[in-house]
Amino acid sequence: MNVADSERAATHLRQAGYELADAPEAADVVLLNTCSVRERAERKVFTRIGELRETASNKPLIGVMGCVAQLEGESIFDQAAAVHLVIGTRATDRISLLIERAKAGEPSVLDLGERGEGDAWEVSPVERHSPYVAFVPIIEGCNKFCSFCIVPYSRGREKSRSATDILNEVRRLRDFGYKEIHLIGQNVNSYRPRSLEGLEKFPGATPFCRLLRAVAATGVARIKFTTSFPRDFHPDIVAAIEEYPNLCDWVHLPVQSGSDRILQAMRRGHKAAAYRDKITAIKSARRRLALTSDIIVGFPGETVADFADTLALVRECEYDALYIFKYSQRRGTPAAKMVDTVSEAEKKERFIALESVQREIQNRIYQGYLGKRLSVLVEGTSARSEEDMSGHSTCHKVVNFHGGTELEGKIVDVLITEAKTNSLYGALVN
Ligand code: SAM
Repeated sequence: MNVADSERAATHLRQAGYELADAPEAADVVLLNTCSVRERAERKVFTRIGELRETASNKPLIGVMGCVAQLEGESIFDQAAAVHLVIGTRATDRISLLIERAKAGEPSVLDLGERGEGDAWEVSPVERHSPYVAFVPIIEGCNKFCSFCIVPYSRGREKSRSATDILNEVRRLRDFGYKEIHLIGQNVNSYRPRSLEGLEKFPGATPFCRLLRAVAATGVARIKFTTSFPRDFHPDIVAAIEEYPNLCDWVHLPVQSGSDRILQAMRRGHKAAAYRDKITAIKSARRRLALTSDIIVGFPGETVADFADTLALVRECEYDALYIFKYSQRRGTPAAKMVDTVSEAEKKERFIALESVQREIQNRIYQGYLGKRLSVLVEGTSARSEEDMSGHSTCHKVVNFHGGTELEGKIVDVLITEAKTNSLYGALVN
């Protein structure tokens, strides 16, 4: 989501006549896009501002945008005197005006306002992070108010983009040669546009299921979507994936905990059994669907028994990958008022224990790919070796193989010969 926001800000700035610089030393303005989901991310911003002040001898205007800007607001000017601009999460279309004000000498320019009605979602191809893979936001904000999470405060309420707009963008991306579209949002499956215009011809149990079918019908080669919220995960999503081969075989469904007591304290709005039912639906698809999730360890009040429930759920779900986070207290969230009973040492211990269970499962799943062919979108040269190319499979595994740069942007078949912890290695087939 942050990458997509930066792409959108860059599009707006270029339209307003700005050029993007390669390095802070060459820039008149440096904007830091920020994340506040965990404390560590937030602290990094202030470290970075300090570094910029030290190293950028050209003394650029410094602006903070994104979630930290939205949450900390005016106090950023007190915390970091080098900052001239604080730009909230919904002010993207006003950035150039804000810069002009700062350039005119206004010392502390702040905008935490809402988006304007006609604000642009469109991203110019030159600003996209990849010429082959494009992020398309379909919903922003969050109404779920999980007790640990800062997102509803930093990004506001859920706002869905019109289906017509999304479909037009997807068609343009397809015509431009993009091979993979990621429909993105805090909770993509909570998609609820004001009208169903554009989706009339596409059936589905929920607007998101209809949108999936409509996007698939554009014929773009590969479609992925993230993140899904468990309570809103309708089995018709699995049915849509089965109907359209270009809807990729990967679902990211964060569970956060395997304990009902903790799920309730987290205000996730579902029990572990309901989550297991969703997983059963996903696992009973005719195509094997890769499954990934997020878990928070050490939520306030999490006992050894609660954590054992999480381990049991993870063993049962057999995720292809798992993003594990140590609980991080976020000011202003309901959980911040709870007594943090789990020590840092225990959080670390649980993190390591869960990671080790996951590694074992993941090794088994990855080994299962040996001798199989995967369809891979070649995205670039591998980070490890100039001789190898790298890309993602439809099941969202990183796949490396021996090959040349002429393959970039192509979809190729790779026969898997080696399984590593977080990637696969293979040989080009076609
Ligand atoms: N809205 C998306 C969702 O619900 O999956 C993604 C939100 S967040 C960027 C991704 C993950 O960060 C969450 O799923 C959760 O596991 C983790 N997270 C969020 N708040 C956290 C907190 N206060 N402490 C630790 N991890 C947190």
